[in-house]
Amino acid sequence: MIPVEEAQSLVLARIHRLEPETVSVLDALGCVLSSDIVSDIDVAPFDNSAMDGYAVRTSDTGGASDGSPVVLRVMEHIAAGMVPQRELGPGEVSRIMTGAPVPAGADAVVMVESTEGIENAGGAGGTVAIKAPAALGDHIRRAGEEIRAGDVALRCGEIVGAAGIGLLAALGRPTVEVYRRPRVAIVSTGDELVDITERPGPGKIRNANSYALSAQVLLAGGVPHVLGVARDNVADTKAILSRAPEFDLMVSTGGVSMGDFDVVKDVLAEIGDVDFWKVAMRPGAPQTYGTIGPTPFFGLPGNPTSTMVGFELFVRPSIRKMRGFTALARPRVMARLATDVRKKSDRRYFLRGVLEPAAAPRAEARYDVRLAGSQSSAMLTAMHRANCLVSLPEHESAVAAGSIVECIRLDQEEGTV
Ligand code: AMP
Ligand code: MG
Repeated sequence: MIPVEEAQSLVLARIHRLEPETVSVLDALGCVLSSDIVSDIDVAPFDNSAMDGYAVRTSDTGGASDGSPVVLRVMEHIAAGMVPQRELGPGEVSRIMTGAPVPAGADAVVMVESTEGIENAGGAGGTVAIKAPAALGDHIRRAGEEIRAGDVALRCGEIVGAAGIGLLAALGRPTVEVYRRPRVAIVSTGDELVDITERPGPGKIRNANSYALSAQVLLAGGVPHVLGVARDNVADTKAILSRAPEFDLMVSTGGVSMGDFDVVKDVLAEIGDVDFWKVAMRPGAPQTYGTIGPTPFFGLPGNPTSTMVGFELFVRPSIRKMRGFTALARPRVMARLATDVRKKSDRRYFLRGVLEPAAAPRAEARYDVRLAGSQSSAMLTAMHRANCLVSLPEHESAVAAGSIVECIRLDQEEGTV
């Protein structure tokens, strides 16, 4: 058995970022940019108004106040999308809407709230009273204020969120280069497995793992390919595991324990290389890792929660690394444990827990954590209810209620804080 961190580092040392691909802009959501995006335009593209109001010459507005407004002539009405036709001379203003180009001659905008229409309600051809002085540049968004033509607007390595999608659209990028999502082969093993649509006969159960794993792959940003069930014999398992080189990564469940029909490890040793096959952890010590041809292979244990925890610890960070992410660890918080836990002192425990903010503020831990339900690795319900994995250190044989423990948040993405 090797320690969890050692297994994680060994795996991640073998995993490499995939090559970039070009995707349509919306498909880049949540992906990592593989090149700088250089703008070929200024943003804003032209000087424009930040307010609905009047484009003015500041020199005309000096001393204006509520009590003694200056009355100026309105030359035109400039809506967003229009091009101004009139240059402002002394005593002249133009009514202007947010986003409309500032006319030549104007050097500020006075918002409509500081004005009062006189003749023609302050529309084109009328007059308007300006009730506050304008300072140079007031309410004008300058051309290139945010991004200049030739600037790097979005950087290689940055993650594209909704705002990034908006920026790419503003810059006229219907497609963009990002690091590719890995294609992940999912294999279940077991003579007992039947499909989701079947009512299991005697001795049979439904194949829950291939669905849970597909969901985990999707959440990690990979593309799941369910290859089906390998029955518990060497020929069947070899046939399906041999397909690994068609994919960027392969994950199997079951068949890695000490049972008479657990053949995954032997097949891996025959057609590939085994790096490790046991990790000092619960749930799911029989975590197997190796390669088949160029493809990393994860032989996760069959019990549904062991599968999912193994995925969380080893496969999810691998998928993220392939996708170009550098943050590979989920946020961790310290919490006060609600119950006594007994454990084996030779392995790390990852209990399925529910974190909640502590009722009273406390210096050492802002959260309380309780168990999410039965901790049997055969049961998925606690995993379903959990928002964290409570990580209990290898060397302890018991952890008392009230202890401060480390929790890995499953409800938050990997990040920088
Ligand atoms: P194994 O690791 O193959 O010995 O399987 C351990 C336990 O997990 C057994 O009770 C299996 O029936 C169960 N199991 C294995 N594969 C799956 C699966 N795909 N879906 C649900 N349960 C499974
Ligand atoms: Mg099995």
